[in-house]
Amino acid sequence: MPLLDLGALHAELSPDLEDAALRVVRSGRLLLGPELAAFEEAWATAVGARFAVGVGNGLDALSLGLRALGIGPGDEVLVPGHTFVATWLAVAHVGAVPVPVDVRSARADWDDVALAAAVTPRTRAILPVHLYGHPVDLDPVLRLARDHDLAVLDDAAQAHGARLRDRPVGGLTHATAWSFYPGKNLGALGDGGAVTTSDPETARRLRSLRNYGSTEKYRHDEVGWNSRLDELQAAVLSVKLRRMEAHNARREAVARRYDEGLAGLDLVLPERVAWATPAWHLYVVRSRHRDRLQEHLAAAGVEAGVHYPIPCHRQGAFAGTALAEAHLPVSDALAREVLSLPMDPMLSPHDQDRVIDAVRSFRA
Ligand SMILES: *Cc1c(COP(=O)(O)O)cnc(C)c1O
Repeated sequence: MPLLDLGALHAELSPDLEDAALRVVRSGRLLLGPELAAFEEAWATAVGARFAVGVGNGLDALSLGLRALGIGPGDEVLVPGHTFVATWLAVAHVGAVPVPVDVRSARADWDDVALAAAVTPRTRAILPVHLYGHPVDLDPVLRLARDHDLAVLDDAAQAHGARLRDRPVGGLTHATAWSFYPGKNLGALGDGGAVTTSDPETARRLRSLRNYGSTEKYRHDEVGWNSRLDELQAAVLSVKLRRMEAHNARREAVARRYDEGLAGLDLVLPERVAWATPAWHLYVVRSRHRDRLQEHLAAAGVEAGVHYPIPCHRQGAFAGTALAEAHLPVSDALAREVLSLPMDPMLSPHDQDRVIDAVRSFRA
């Protein structure tokens, strides 16, 4: 039982994916063309933003998003202690300083008081992460940002289709960063990313930054990147977007079956809150015996993953910096205890029951 079977997912769409790819090949137009424009419009609409700007990957979506919001050297950006390392790397890439705030649970939610306490005169932005597809409550984050004149960029790389008080994640902050890495809820056939925003000036900056700081050929008004979502990936994403809601509904059904099948065990199951609809990118449980549970599942033919085994502040990338000294006890505990069970829109109830039985037969 794999964590995610991309082959099965793509088999279902294969004729449409092949048509899309062939259309791009025959057009001879491979970058910054009509496929990108069409996908950007569809994606902006899907997530309730005015603009979407396609970029090369999720890390670039975060870095360019920060740059477009004016974040640069010396600025402090509040980030969760528990996230995929790209969240922190993006801040470092624009020369700013990630300031980690410990989370309350695996869903990377913050305590409002702890978040406010981390604001200093150098704080310029807040970067919440909708981890595993669970929306962060943005209301207190936006309130704090307003009070201190801070930008808010949310990392929605795992939250395609998630909703917060019945509004889609993606149009709720100054800018939202997306990844279309193949394994995400909306994934390309390679790397891809986007930033959504409803601010025309931020969208204009992003279009310039992704294209060598240029909006007019051979004129470069700023030191930009080369980070574009290519026509082939845009065409593929337009095809896959049509199935995203149906796939997310299947993910929700899988999550419900886990909730019921795993109740009453010595495990912390994902918390549900009334005000949010998660995208269920991952179904993550917490166990004090995580490593042995993972081995037990592997022996039963069930692949489970760990997202993520080394907390960001303990990564070699930040060794020798003040970040390595950060006190983040919950994030440290999560790195030891989280386990992701197979989560796949194509997972059949029968196969899922094998996963549930394997978890239930574990003796600590
Ligand atoms: C995948 C991911 C990213 C980075 O996206 P890439 O497209 O792989 O660069 C950033 N943040 C989070 C939370 C992610 O899961």
